[in-house]
Amino acid sequence: MKFYYQCSECGKNYEITPEIMVCPECSKSQNSNKPLRGILEVICDSELDNEFSIFDFLPIEKRFFPKIPVGNTPLWQPNNLRNEFGFENLFIKDDTCNPTNSFKDRASYLVAAFAKKWGIKEIVVASTGNAASSMAGIGASANLNITIFMPESAPKAKMIQSLQYGAKVITVAGNYDKAFDLSLKYLKKNNFLSRNTAYNPMTIEGKKTVSLEIYQSLKKSPDFVFVPTGDGAILGGVYKGFKDLKRCGFIKIIPTIVAVQAEGSNAICEALKSDEFSPIEAKTIADSISVGIPKNGYYVIQQLEKYNGKCITVSDDEILTAQKQLSSSEGLFTEPAGAAAFAGFKKMKNNLSKDAMIVLLATGNGLKDIDSAMEKVKFPKRAITSLEEL
Ligand SMILES: *Cc1c(COP(=O)(O)O)cnc(C)c1O
Repeated sequence: MKFYYQCSECGKNYEITPEIMVCPECSKSQNSNKPLRGILEVICDSELDNEFSIFDFLPIEKRFFPKIPVGNTPLWQPNNLRNEFGFENLFIKDDTCNPTNSFKDRASYLVAAFAKKWGIKEIVVASTGNAASSMAGIGASANLNITIFMPESAPKAKMIQSLQYGAKVITVAGNYDKAFDLSLKYLKKNNFLSRNTAYNPMTIEGKKTVSLEIYQSLKKSPDFVFVPTGDGAILGGVYKGFKDLKRCGFIKIIPTIVAVQAEGSNAICEALKSDEFSPIEAKTIADSISVGIPKNGYYVIQQLEKYNGKCITVSDDEILTAQKQLSSSEGLFTEPAGAAAFAGFKKMKNNLSKDAMIVLLATGNGLKDIDSAMEKVKFPKRAITSLEEL
């Protein structure tokens, strides 16, 4: 199996090495306040048979991966929601079951293997929380040193996770875009490996495993996949997985991918309409999809246009309502970003055929952000000492 990088803009090929993260040519046209230029896609040029293992599709050999069990998350049938909405082929891909309780582990896992293969010991990441806690946890298992740049406003649980796993946490007075900038400057000075989302090609490549698993479970490709979207690395990864499956002849068509964004953080939806990224001041309760400048913006617009994908927005209230409904009707407690895909499905359901095969991605555990989860529940008013007080 031969793997190499190909620039998603100019099409030039490069060997996979730690020295190169984005296309040296196309990244020259990088403007500040814009998505990343010259995103590199991993291409593999050989054929696979039907009994493939996920590792066969990955550009790093299996022996370099840490032992922590990432992926293989359940794809299950939410019967109560199926009955309520009348969609008999609705599925949830529950990525809250990953070791650090978010989808981000898929990327961290491949980045950790990449570092092991190349003898790299230090990894730096900027993150609103989940990419950080994920890299910290997977990095602990792989014996790597992790440095994190995190906005000081990040949910406490995500910061505590990172500290528990033993990462060095640097809090940034400012938003995620600021943390990203500072981390790149720090990287230049120290020559460490970056796990910054989309910037390191392994992040998108690692996230494609979700599509491979969906295919392995369903034995075919679904009609729709709903994807909560901030930077668009999950979205890009979902596409990449289905594209690999198509190239190897396992599926004939790429599913309709629906990117779901928060109304207050809708840069990709806007760019799909106007073909242009204007920086926005992102504001949403769903911190994991709160992004002003989507790092993977140009790449995902290219994919959404090519494969007729959709982008929709949901309000914070719709997200919180969806979160509560997932918890109380299915026992699936996800953080707000994790519930956004379901909120998007609810918004779009009247335009979907009832027998369509639909997969909703649930991307992060609800306990990661307790403050948001308190919005839609009522706390017991006071403590009792006897039943008469009820
Ligand atoms: C990171 C994240 C997302 C969004 O992924 P992007 O690649 O930034 O679009 C969605 N949900 C959760 C829980 C996340 O941590």
